[in-house]
Amino acid sequence: MDPRLRGDDSGRISLMGFLASRTARIKPSASSGAAQRARELRAAGRDIVNLGQGEPDFPTPDHIIEAATKAMRAGETRYTDTDGTPQLKEAVAAKFLRENGLRYTTKEISIGSGGKQVIFNALMATLDAGDEVVIPAPHWVSYPEMVAFADGTPVVVQTENFKLTPARLEAAITPRTKWLILNAPSNPAGAVYSEAELRALAAVLERHRQVWVLSDDMYEHILFDGRRYATMAQAAPQLAERTLTVNGVSKAYAMTGWRIGYGAGPAHLIKAMAVLQSQSTANPSSIGQAAAVAALTGPQDIVRMRCAEFERRRDAIGPKLGAIPGLACEMPAGAFYFYVSCAGLMGKKLKQDTDVALYLLDQGVALVAGTPYGLSPYFRVSFATSMENLDEACRRIAGAVGKLA
Ligand code: PLP
Repeated sequence: MDPRLRGDDSGRISLMGFLASRTARIKPSASSGAAQRARELRAAGRDIVNLGQGEPDFPTPDHIIEAATKAMRAGETRYTDTDGTPQLKEAVAAKFLRENGLRYTTKEISIGSGGKQVIFNALMATLDAGDEVVIPAPHWVSYPEMVAFADGTPVVVQTENFKLTPARLEAAITPRTKWLILNAPSNPAGAVYSEAELRALAAVLERHRQVWVLSDDMYEHILFDGRRYATMAQAAPQLAERTLTVNGVSKAYAMTGWRIGYGAGPAHLIKAMAVLQSQSTANPSSIGQAAAVAALTGPQDIVRMRCAEFERRRDAIGPKLGAIPGLACEMPAGAFYFYVSCAGLMGKKLKQDTDVALYLLDQGVALVAGTPYGLSPYFRVSFATSMENLDEACRRIAGAVGKLA
């Protein structure tokens, strides 16, 4: 028997040396971990207000659920084409044309089990050992982990007002740079790029033809203050042949559990991603895909109504959070998070933002520390929860901070 598989003293199987080294390169998702911890504490009877949530607190709209039920009854319960049904690809193409002025054929569209899988496929399909990916911070926790898993090197770049500038982009690019990942509205800071800002970044990329853009537009529809959305493929059409635009139904339609995301880009990249998917998960759920067709082709007013509700919460809670001594936050331009600076709390008791998150959890508020987002000392507060919860959380945070003094 392979000695690595022999039971240890406790009789358990030891996996030391058995697991591939690539598993040691990545950490579990910090945001999922924080939400999980809050659920466990609640299950154990603790009174916890959960601001760790990375998903809308609304239900999936009825007409989408009805479309899924109808699809099941009609026998749409079998394997589908690996990277998406023709119906869903058509619906995605129509969405890009209607909302972004972008024209894609179905060969240029990939459907995955969430935007997360689409991003993972793209990185796995393109990165060789040592290839670099520029990631502006603060960033979604999964980008550097996925890059590392795919043998690439994450190059985390600091930003100004949470946004990448042309000068910082220029300084980060090397001959090994393969991708720039842009995410707007961003998780965790809600930062949004104007069309002019995207064009200025594109001007840098025109000088570096080896660099592709992965535009993660997952929070496109949660955009505040009447802003118009801009995405790289539309702002800089000259880069379209090296841009992958990723989006999904999770955040816009409150469909996080259905696991449907999509990407659009050059057909040769899409094809490579489909091969990868064919040898891993195969098609995303047939029922989820039918539901996503209904989401993308059905009434869109509910998306706007829910966005307005997120904006109302932002406006109510932002000033309260910012007024707590030691904390500071900007009003996010989109998504449903505040990225709160806790630099003013650093001292003998709390030395880093992970200490702050643990302390606040102990005081009954779950949120996510900034460290895994690449910019510290901060924490992320999700306002995808009721106004009552948000008010109570602010009260508890203020009380907890008061005790420190
Ligand atoms: N991109 C960002 C910035 C996200 O925050 C998330 C989810 O939290 C995703 C992509 C993936 O979303 P999904 O896989 O649910 O489509």
